Amino acid sequence: MNYIAQIREAAELIRESAHCYCLTGAGMSTESGIPDFRSPGGLWQEIDPIKTSSAEVLYNNPRVFYEVAFTRFARITRAEPNAGHRSLARLEQMGYLKGLVTQNIDGLHVKAGSQRVWEVHGHLRSGYCLGCQKRYPFEFLVEQVEGKQIPPSCPTCNHMLRPDVVLFGDPMPPLFYEAWEELAGQCDLLLVCGSSLVVYPVAELPALARKLIIINLEPTPYDHLAAVVIREKCGKVLPAIVELLEA
Ligand code: NAD
Repeated sequence: MNYIAQIREAAELIRESAHCYCLTGAGMSTESGIPDFRSPGGLWQEIDPIKTSSAEVLYNNPRVFYEVAFTRFARITRAEPNAGHRSLARLEQMGYLKGLVTQNIDGLHVKAGSQRVWEVHGHLRSGYCLGCQKRYPFEFLVEQVEGKQIPPSCPTCNHMLRPDVVLFGDPMPPLFYEAWEELAGQCDLLLVCGSSLVVYPVAELPALARKLIIINLEPTPYDHLAAVVIREKCGKVLPAIVELLEA
């Protein structure tokens, strides 16, 4: 199938589906200037996230976590949604998309206007105290780190603050299981955008869908099961699909 035929087929599958959901990964946001992990030139080639961004590092070596991983997180908050994020928000607005599961912590789906978003690896809008659990805006943590107060601490009880993201070694939050149950019960089509589909347990979600569309630059372990695989950028493919559905 050539590219035009793939886009048409994908749009048709979305039009015909009753409960289409979307799963996005780091590849969704590379066009917003945020590197993914596994592409050539991706973050994994620069730093080993297990050595800088895991729960173990946060608890045992908070200085490394805050100086390396957190500084990268803080840069991500300045990114803006791209045409792919906006297209997914539009698909939901048009009634085609019932919900969106994202592995991304960048908050760009929310910024783009998507309403039903499960941010299963957390987000960068807030943080909380490991002692009294009080929540603070993410900016409050950034201000302390920029002022060399590392690790940032709770003004109420003085315990360490941490961002609301799911780190390697953290348990998955309850909203992941919420998303799991809804997809298992309803999803007749899953649109996968910009994910290598190798990070578990999120990579188990495509197995719940009756049909799959995969938009990803590189091969994934689910390609052989997908109705359509498009090896192109999300920021190009998704607006083209929306255009067909709007026509
Ligand atoms: P990944 O890095 O494992 O894979 C990203 C995939 O996207 C790659 O296969 C790549 O070929 C593809 N890709 C890159 N740019 C693309 C584009 N413009 N269009 C289509 N495909 C594109 O990412 P993952 O599967 O999401 O897993 C990585 C983990 O890292 C996740 O758990 C996530 O939480 C975290 N992460 C998040 C961000 C973010 O919030 N933006 C960034 C880096 C990593």
